[in-house]
Amino acid sequence: MALAELAARLNCAEYKNWVKAGHCLLLLRDALQRFAGEQLRAFHRQLLARLAPPGRLCRSRCLPRGRQFQSSCSLCTEWKKEILNHHTNRNGEVHWGNCKPWLWPSNSWELAKAYMPRGQMDISGPDKCDAAALLNLFNFCDHFSGIDQKKVREVIKCRNELMHSSEMKVSSLWLEEFGKKIQNLLKELQNVPEVMTASTRIEKLLSSDWAVYIPGEDDQPDGLEGETEVCMSGSQISEIEMELIKERLKEIYLLVEEQEMLSEENLNRIQMTKNFLKDSGDLQISLQADMQRLEGLEKEGYNQRRSMKETMKEYPDQEEDEGCSLKKMKCIPKEQLL
Ligand SMILES: [Zn+2]
Repeated sequence: MALAELAARLNCAEYKNWVKAGHCLLLLRDALQRFAGEQLRAFHRQLLARLAPPGRLCRSRCLPRGRQFQSSCSLCTEWKKEILNHHTNRNGEVHWGNCKPWLWPSNSWELAKAYMPRGQMDISGPDKCDAAALLNLFNFCDHFSGIDQKKVREVIKCRNELMHSSEMKVSSLWLEEFGKKIQNLLKELQNVPEVMTASTRIEKLLSSDWAVYIPGEDDQPDGLEGETEVCMSGSQISEIEMELIKERLKEIYLLVEEQEMLSEENLNRIQMTKNFLKDSGDLQISLQADMQRLEGLEKEGYNQRRSMKETMKEYPDQEEDEGCSLKKMKCIPKEQLL
């Protein structure tokens, strides 16, 4: 039954493209994890030799918050300075809240997190990271400056388009371009053994049809037996789909946390994802808690808009200044505002 629902979803070519693109990112991530961990250990050793003679530890439990980190001990201050020295965008934002600074002298991955997007606090190592975290590390830590940064940024941009789009759909042309950008980046890392395997798998994935055959309903077409590498089973595709949807949900929660007032764009993302899950009974069963969270966020968005509207009624003079917000609010169906 679940496979039948999956097959129905994949009937939409643009959704299938979205899942395929996401699978490319998962393959890229798998290929880069060991390399990233190894490189970080080398980078850590370099800093350690300069900063932390044995026995020096942070005893103040210096704790960053979000983008702020006022270290209170001299050791963390030194590490912070060194981390910034190796940051490729020194005036940019650093998500210090990802890090547990007292672990910097002993744990290389705590260092890596200073170069990553927010939401990494509980990630303990490269094997728990998604592609976005690894690519941002390559982009923002100058230890990786040997990799063509333009190629890294192009893949990051596509990844964000994929995960932030309100609809989980991309065109075949987009997927083709994305495939080229990923392959361009992989060429930069040809010396990493896992990368060559990933490159071949991505190439095959993008040229395969990815049809799901439901046992008992369809006969597997002739000739597919010999193409097992290309032809994935329905349950394998289903696992990939679930992983991507979870990543998208995580991304939505992070975007929402960044704003006090839910933007129109985020409200739209929430609604689209909620409706998508509503239409997919098989996914909904496993994602009950997320479904409730999305409904709660949606409600919060409506309430925020309602109270804003009421404030405007009370103080009509403000209407002119806030005309833009009022216009935006009109996109929400009236009955939902009541
Ligand atoms: Zn400290």
